[in-house]
Amino acid sequence: MTTTEVENFPGFPDGITGPDLMDRMRRQAERWGAELHQEDVELLDVKNSPFTVRSSEREIKCNSVIVATGANAKRLRLPHEDEFWSKGISACAICDGASPLFKGQVLAVVGGGDTATEEAIYLTKYARHVHLLVRRNELRASKAMQDRVFNNPNITVHFNTETLDVVGNAKGQMSGVLTRRSDTGEESVIEAKGLFYGIGHSPNSQLLEGQVELDSAGYILVKDGTASTSVEGVYAAGDVQDHEWRQAVTAAGSGCVAAMSVERYLTSKNLLIEFHQPQREEAKKELTPRDVQEGFDITRTKHKGQYALRKLYHESPRLVCVLYTSPTCGPCRTLKPILNKVIDEYDQSVHLVEIDIEEDQEIAEAAGIMGTPCVQFFKNKEMIRSIPGVKMKKEYREFIEANK
Ligand code: NDP
Repeated sequence: MTTTEVENFPGFPDGITGPDLMDRMRRQAERWGAELHQEDVELLDVKNSPFTVRSSEREIKCNSVIVATGANAKRLRLPHEDEFWSKGISACAICDGASPLFKGQVLAVVGGGDTATEEAIYLTKYARHVHLLVRRNELRASKAMQDRVFNNPNITVHFNTETLDVVGNAKGQMSGVLTRRSDTGEESVIEAKGLFYGIGHSPNSQLLEGQVELDSAGYILVKDGTASTSVEGVYAAGDVQDHEWRQAVTAAGSGCVAAMSVERYLTSKNLLIEFHQPQREEAKKELTPRDVQEGFDITRTKHKGQYALRKLYHESPRLVCVLYTSPTCGPCRTLKPILNKVIDEYDQSVHLVEIDIEEDQEIAEAAGIMGTPCVQFFKNKEMIRSIPGVKMKKEYREFIEANK
């Protein structure tokens, strides 16, 4: 979940951040015996029963499956999008907005729905000014969000404005957005150091393509008021089957419907097996940057904070993997366990150091971090690879294997 503040989840009268809500849900599921495996599913076969779920780590046979793969932010496919991707253009203000390179700058957001307005409001925490580029003469966002945008003096809304491209300066940095007025045809460049997309989402239903019925936009079709897809035993929950409501609470509700449907389905087929998990060990307390500074130990594989990074940069004989995160970034929380697991496989051959870009702004700026999460690998005081975003485990594994 990349939303920052979730204001409408029942039970949180003061709101809660998306990543915190996810952490609580995860802990609650684990307390009731759910086993969570954070890995990339590469194949889902629901044509043959039992179904097959194959990930990069294992293959599981199952009698029923719930697909809750969500939806991804759409891209505009501008002529210079690839050149400026992650170097000015971003699809996630909440992940990338805190980057020091955007601090105090003029930024632009494209879109007129709740995502774009939420992003514009969020970016005013860091930016000097935010331009909201809206292709029609009205916003699609809820009235409450519209009011917040119109009442924010740091946001200028440009209606009837199409986004044509981004432009750069002589140093190769993004410097503006080329726009065209749809009413007059007039083209102009709006000065901006960053452009954030908020133009809707595409469902992640590729795993089920050709196997269950999808609508014309690729959303999984479920029978009205249920989580049932066109294949018996296959259920869908959350944004991958919902292009209309897309709220955390509606997704959670559909997840509950799906879970109960699976239970009923398995019972009806006499396939339900109850099992009880042994008690889990207490989670180890995470190290704080202060702990690391006070007792820096180069033989330890995992570290935090700029003190540790400086020490490792100069003294580590190993490959150093630096993970840049920010506190409000949902994808960072997704990446952390993935990367930690890969690092565990190479204990004693790599060092991992986590940098919170809000806490250690200077170092993030020096490293040219434009967004989080971002992973950089260093060897012999040289940066040899920078990997922005969340990638599949095998990408990190293959790189470490080749460079350790
Ligand atoms: P929407 O589909 O609602 O809005 C997409 C916006 O992007 C529209 O204004 C659309 O313009 C514009 N757009 C689409 N393509 C282009 C393009 N090529 N060029 C320029 N503009 C473009 O998507 P959202 O992601 O905003 O919201 C989806 C759902 O999620 C909604 O139901 C929303 O309520 C919900 N949501 C709720 C949030 C919350 O409550 N905190 C936060 C975020 C989303 P046009 O209007 O002209 O079609």
